[in-house]
Formats: sequence, structure tokens, C-alpha cells
Amino acid sequence: MSKITALARPEVRNLRPYRAAPYHAGLLRLNANETPWRPAGDNSTDGLNLYPEARPLRLTKALAKHYGVATTQLLVTRGSSEAIDLLIRCFCRPGEDQIVICPPTFGMYEVYAQLQGAGVQKIPLIKEQGYALDLEAIESAASPQTKLLFICSPNNPTGNLISTDQIDIACRAMDGTGIVIVDAAYIEFATSDPTRELLDRHDNIVILRTLSKAFGLAGVRCGAIIAAAEIVDMVDCILPPYAYPTPSADAALAALAAPDEMNERVATLRSERQRVITALENLPGVERTWPSATNFVLLLATEPKRLVAAAKAGGVLIRDFSWDPYTPGCVRITIGNRAQNDQLLEALKQV
Ligand code: PMP
Repeated sequence: MSKITALARPEVRNLRPYRAAPYHAGLLRLNANETPWRPAGDNSTDGLNLYPEARPLRLTKALAKHYGVATTQLLVTRGSSEAIDLLIRCFCRPGEDQIVICPPTFGMYEVYAQLQGAGVQKIPLIKEQGYALDLEAIESAASPQTKLLFICSPNNPTGNLISTDQIDIACRAMDGTGIVIVDAAYIEFATSDPTRELLDRHDNIVILRTLSKAFGLAGVRCGAIIAAAEIVDMVDCILPPYAYPTPSADAALAALAAPDEMNERVATLRSERQRVITALENLPGVERTWPSATNFVLLLATEPKRLVAAAKAGGVLIRDFSWDPYTPGCVRITIGNRAQNDQLLEALKQV
């Protein structure tokens, strides 16, 4: 058994996945208890009366091409949220194993670990170093029970990119005992994308991607696990057949066919981000902002609740993070289009 296979839960290693009814182009399908007619309003490619393919092959190919990886290295998931859940269920034995998270960070890693009955060790990012990883603590956390280390890069809610050197060190620290999950949900808003090079260097790494952010397809729910084929196959075992909805696959394929539009929108959001940061730093209620490689900005407010209330009075919702002990006094603002950002900045002037 390889090093990676040995890390999976024994139940997963021994699982015999459900065998979906096979389909063959050109042959009548009377083997899956479907209905022969398309429903009203159905303009999907394959027909909504039919189950989708057991795995969305066209979408897998298009995503693999877009990210520059082999189709065997990619598993399509329903948003990257589902990918987080699948990975924890695949590798963490309830009551025995644990994940490591680096707060302040995305809240769902902890929620899914709790659901699985896995422990959660917190190794906070080092605020004084611009929210960098605490590599010494990560190295000493490596153990046979520490199955997954979640690194969110660029990180939500702080907005910073974690350096590739730091991720390399974390992968080496976990080599043989665990897997590093790099959640790259916001990576298109950064200036470089280390997905390929990290994948080439480490076999104990998983990169999570999503079409929810830069591609603007949050409503479609399309994410991807990108990793060595062995990890992809393992996670594939626990995903039910027909999991990916036909309308979502169609919408994702249409967007992937027009990447220029995405690139233009990312460029616009990047320049709006700079404009908003400059304006925020000139507001009396804002003490500082943090540099952002994402489509949001974290700021320190003198009175965070007043800032959030002022935005709301001006018709805009922004996110109060001051309740979180890892981000005292902080508020997170998503970058919108020019008119939306103007509306927010006008509202915040009233503080
Ligand atoms: N990772 C991070 C860091 C996020 O901020 C989010 C959504 N806010 C997700 C994953 C989940 O995104 P989705 O399920 O839409 O792909």
C-alpha cells in the first residue's frame, strides 16, 4: 500500500463504490428508471429527464485544461465546500484523527471536522508577520493522527497570499503522515498562481479551486479537487454517482469557454480594490487595512459596529469580524463594481 493510500480511513480504503447503470451512446437507456420526456423549459444539452453522467466528463476535461493539469488529477465537486467535506470524511477517523487550521481563516474547515468527529488543532497565523504561517508549530504538530493541514491562500478573511516557500516547508513537514490542503478559492485575484508548481513538487498536496469567485459562478456550485491521481481516486470513491447537476455542468462549460471575460472582470476588481483601499485609509473610522490578494479587504475599525451600521444605513451589508478573537476590531468588505463601491464609501463617510 502506498504512503497516501495508507492515510485514508480503512472504511474508505475497503469501500466498494456503488455501480452506476452504464450508458452507451446510441443505445436506448431503459436501465436507470428514468422518464422518456424532457420537462417543460428544459434546454439542457443532455435532457433533464436523464441522470447526468456518473462523473461529468466534459466538465472534468474543461477544468483540467483550464488549470493545466491532467484529467486524472482533477475531481469536480459541488463547490469547494463539498471538497472540504469529502477530504475530511476520506482521511479523518472520528474520535482519532485531527485536522490543523490556521486562524483567522475560513470557518467551514472546523465545521466539517466537527461533523466528522475529527479534532481541530489551531495554529494561528502570525499577525505581526502579515498573517504568515507559524511553521515551527506546524512542524511540531505533524503526527500520524494529524491527517490534514488546511492552508487558505489567499486567506479569508485576512486577504494575504501565503508564500510558496512556506507551503513547500509545510508539505515536507507533513510528508508521510498527512496531506496539505491549499484552498486557493481566491487565487485568480493574486498576481501568480502556484497550483502547477506545487503539484509537481509534492505528492501530499491538494489544491482546491472554485468557479464561485473569479468566474462569478457562485450560484452554479462548481469546485475542484486537484491532486495526485491516487488522492483523486480515493476521494472519488466516496462521491455518490450522478452527483453533478446537468444545468450546473452546462453553465460551467459555457463560462470556461469564455475565459477572457473572467480575466477582464478580475482586472477590474483588482483596480477597484486598490481604489477602495486608498479611500478606506482616508476615512476617520478606519485605522488600517491589510494588503489583499483577493476580492475583499480586511480593515481595522475604531468602532467596527458603528462602521457596519453606517454601511447598512446606506443600503450596504459588510461583514463584522470583530466577534472573532483572532480579528478583534476587524471588518471585511467585498469589492463590488464601481457604483457599488461608491455607494459603500459614501455611506461610510457618515461614521
Ligand atoms: N474556500 C474559501 C476560502 C471561501 O471563502 C469559500 C466561500 N466563501 C469557499 C471555500 C467555498 O466556496 P464554494 O463552495 O462556493 O466553492
